Amino acid sequence: MIDFSRMRFVRSAMEPVHFPNLQKPEFAFSGRSNVGKSSLINMICKSTIARVSKTPGRTQAINFFEIQELVFADLPGYGFAKVSKALRQQWKSLIENYLEQRKELRLIVWIIDARREIDEPDLMYYDWLKYYRRKLFLVLNKIDKIPKNELQKVTSRIIKAFPDEQFSLCSVLKHSGRDQLAAAILDELKKPQ
Ligand code: GDP
Repeated sequence: MIDFSRMRFVRSAMEPVHFPNLQKPEFAFSGRSNVGKSSLINMICKSTIARVSKTPGRTQAINFFEIQELVFADLPGYGFAKVSKALRQQWKSLIENYLEQRKELRLIVWIIDARREIDEPDLMYYDWLKYYRRKLFLVLNKIDKIPKNELQKVTSRIIKAFPDEQFSLCSVLKHSGRDQLAAAILDELKKPQ
């Protein structure tokens, strides 16, 4: 069993030259701003290592964390309307470089707000991840906000939009879904490279 609570901050990288050379399997966390990405990383690590942001969309850096067995990369969120064009361009270039170059990257944990319909920015982001042939695990977060009798509708929507992808349901608020995500990470680690 991996002890995620030993996770330690390595570095914040605003440019590819600052990506750390850690030579360990890497798992990236990504999603729209405010989807609960920092909260999810904190839940997995049972800590407050990824700051839960007060101003969504501000940070345009990739934050790297490590334990003995693996690395987490916290990617800046996409689709936040209030950032400038220059910041958006900076984001695009950083993520593009990361997706293209990062050989250690094994899996992208893509967090989606379970309440929202999949829209154009999501689909564009998805196409982009697929263009770089990256493997995904989808986490539908904030399911505490959805009435139980509507959960089926939410999962059907995801299966229809992304039929080839694995996903799980999650509520950081209710502390549910941690085990499925941890299992997906462990599964991926066991696969031969
Ligand atoms: P990030 O911008 O994606 O890193 O999102 P944060 O982790 O900063 O969370 C954004 C907001 O969503 C915060 O107010 C969190 O408390 C809240 N949040 C995160 N996960 C959940 C969840 O599962 N349910 C609910 N209701 N709120 C959540």
